[in-house]
Amino acid sequence: MELASRFTHQKPSGMVRVFQAIEKMNDVLNLSIGEPDFVTEPDIVEAGAKGALEGFTHYPPLQGFFDVREAACAYWERHHGYKSSPENVYISVGGLHIPWLAFGALLNPGDEVMLIEPYFTPYEAQIRGNGGVPVAVRTREENNFAPSLDELRAAATPRTRGIILNYPGNPSGRVPTRKQLEEIAEFVEERDMFVLSDEIYESMVFTGKHECFANLPGMKERTLLASGVSKSHCMTGWRLGYVFAPQNVINTMCVLSSFQTYGVNTLSQKAAAYAMNTQDEKVKARAKIFGERMKMVEGRLNLMKGVKCHAAEGAFYLFPSISGTGLTSEEFTWRLLNEAHVAVLPGSAFGETGEGYIRIACTQSMEALRESMDKMEEFCRRL
Ligand code: PMP
Repeated sequence: MELASRFTHQKPSGMVRVFQAIEKMNDVLNLSIGEPDFVTEPDIVEAGAKGALEGFTHYPPLQGFFDVREAACAYWERHHGYKSSPENVYISVGGLHIPWLAFGALLNPGDEVMLIEPYFTPYEAQIRGNGGVPVAVRTREENNFAPSLDELRAAATPRTRGIILNYPGNPSGRVPTRKQLEEIAEFVEERDMFVLSDEIYESMVFTGKHECFANLPGMKERTLLASGVSKSHCMTGWRLGYVFAPQNVINTMCVLSSFQTYGVNTLSQKAAAYAMNTQDEKVKARAKIFGERMKMVEGRLNLMKGVKCHAAEGAFYLFPSISGTGLTSEEFTWRLLNEAHVAVLPGSAFGETGEGYIRIACTQSMEALRESMDKMEEFCRRL
């Protein structure tokens, strides 16, 4: 069958090619997976089942049930001092659907959206798919991969409308400082832009407290704050995200979703409302586990020939430099997979700034991580 011409040249991304290769192998230590290894807590599962038994089996309200929107507000106020109201929340099919609807609501053809490298790859197609133009902003590791005011100004044009922030970052695992966030806010104000701040890893920050971008002076009205329960509550399969945004944006996202998904699975919504209201201690305990794993892996990486790793800052990702090995990100990734059967992702899959780096997800047990590090150490020694 003939494909739409816009997709005939679409190739699988660097990330997808690794995932496809792993599927054909059966003894891989897989450090490429961006989701918690823990299953959803049984009481959360029961809350979803209870919702079904109580008759929440019909079409949901387009914006999401009121109680789940209330729970999202309470969670963010409790943890980050961010105040919103259920009217300003939209419940989405995973965090992933938020940029799609947001760009649908906000972009005119040719509008530019800044993407800070290294970035979560789907954003690029989501901007393009809604008529926008992604503009990559190069960053440097010595600045935590956060853009300086000069780097932002250099990448801006009269068509620049918005910027995507994501911290703790996927793939970098880095967290910008308060000062860096303030500089971004200054730039956003100067250019009269919107911000899509993807803070889905907010519960895993190891360098202090998560700073919510919308809490910076003047930023609430400009910011769409995106998150979800996938990472914090180990609920990736339930596909439930949410966004806080100004009323007109929420209203338009609802209209757009009425011809795409028509709301979100009712059981997932009931489970998520329960999860956001009751699991703070477990969320904290899991973050501690991820922090300990990352510290161990970071220590091991820094003993390997040609590898240099920053201190664990957030999410469950480490983004070590492998440039000292003399291999490119792709060469390192594929040789590590084929020769040592350890799967990581090439940094170059996340924009040009990622060249010379790999992404390691600490989403395996301590034991599996230790075994992976043994194999990777041996691999680097042999290079
Ligand atoms: N944003 C970022 C930065 C992510 O890493 C992910 C998941 N990998 C998502 C959004 C999407 O999350 P979800 O599974 O809730 O769609």
